[in-house]
Amino acid sequence: MRSKAPAPVVFGAPMIPDPARLAEITAEALSAGWLTNGGVLHLRLEKALAAHVAPGDAVSLVSSGTMALLLGLALGGLPPGSEVITTPLSFAATAQAIAWNGLVPVFADVDPVTLTLQPEAVEAAITPRTSAILPVHFLGVPCDVDALGAIAERHGLWLLYDAAHAFGLTFQGQPIGSFGDASAFSLHATKILHTGEGGFIVTRARRARAFRQMRNFGLEGRLPAGRGLNGKMSELNAAMGLALLPDLAAELAARDSLCRSYDDTLAGIAGLRLHATRPGASKSLGYYVLRLPPNRRERLHAALAQEGIFARDQFPLLCGPGTVWADAEIVTRDGSAPVAPRVGQEVLCLPLHGRVLASDVARIGRIAADICSEGNI
Ligand SMILES: *Cc1c(COP(=O)(O)O)cnc(C)c1O
Repeated sequence: MRSKAPAPVVFGAPMIPDPARLAEITAEALSAGWLTNGGVLHLRLEKALAAHVAPGDAVSLVSSGTMALLLGLALGGLPPGSEVITTPLSFAATAQAIAWNGLVPVFADVDPVTLTLQPEAVEAAITPRTSAILPVHFLGVPCDVDALGAIAERHGLWLLYDAAHAFGLTFQGQPIGSFGDASAFSLHATKILHTGEGGFIVTRARRARAFRQMRNFGLEGRLPAGRGLNGKMSELNAAMGLALLPDLAAELAARDSLCRSYDDTLAGIAGLRLHATRPGASKSLGYYVLRLPPNRRERLHAALAQEGIFARDQFPLLCGPGTVWADAEIVTRDGSAPVAPRVGQEVLCLPLHGRVLASDVARIGRIAADICSEGNI
């Protein structure tokens, strides 16, 4: 008998809700005749997500993670044209949200180990025009929140975290959304928990009212009393999130056990490093990240693809060639060459979802061992 080729292993697979459960929840909105503007499902999802935040913080749902970033910056009341210090290693939305607010992104270098903004580089990037810092908990590794918080405080800067990669994480026992002035999360289908499209922000509770006014056209009663736009999440999107919540624990457990078998299979391979999180952080289940020299990473990526296994190295520099910020420099603490262009090239994310089989992990291990045993040509 001929053996069948193994099924392709896709990079990501969104959680799919039980159709009957989704229909039942959606039917509530339909029978209420209420499809958006803070309906019963929206309220229920906001409450459920609030279980992931610290006491004294508030969750506000919005239409996307990008919207959470846009409004999270606007909430800071930053002067038009002022500078926001951010990282060159992130998804496009981070820098776009700065520019779309009429603010100027200033890129500072990252720490070569954690790949998150380096506090000393942030400090070096501060000018009289700086109004805010927008760090990213990149690939689920928390930023140096103590140092960044101290810098923001010392210089009177707004501190908004992009927490799109960090859903469910804790750092030093605190929910990840409890740091800084606010944290923006994504509920896009590519993220662990999702609503198809969607997002939310965690703010200190006293700011929630102002934020919710902004996401609803800046309305106070019927009057546009402040800045605002339409950032609301519809009932249909909220229904998706509510329908997935009962499956979240099982998805996380499946990812956790997949991470363990990746660890067991890959840890011993010379020339390949597992991207470690910051001490004090809970385990990141959003991404499983390898670090290897760029040429080797490229060969491993291609060799996996040839076997129908789709890994991803999807984070080119936000201010690299071909971007609208190609002319922006990356500020370093001492004026030396930045590490971000090099270390960003070392990243390879392996498939991480409930449908990766043990036999897939074994194949990935064999291919990685082969590539890493070749000379570093
Ligand atoms: C996904 C993502 C976003 C944007 O979220 P959307 O919900 O797609 O708008 C922002 N920042 C980072 C780092 C992301 O990965």
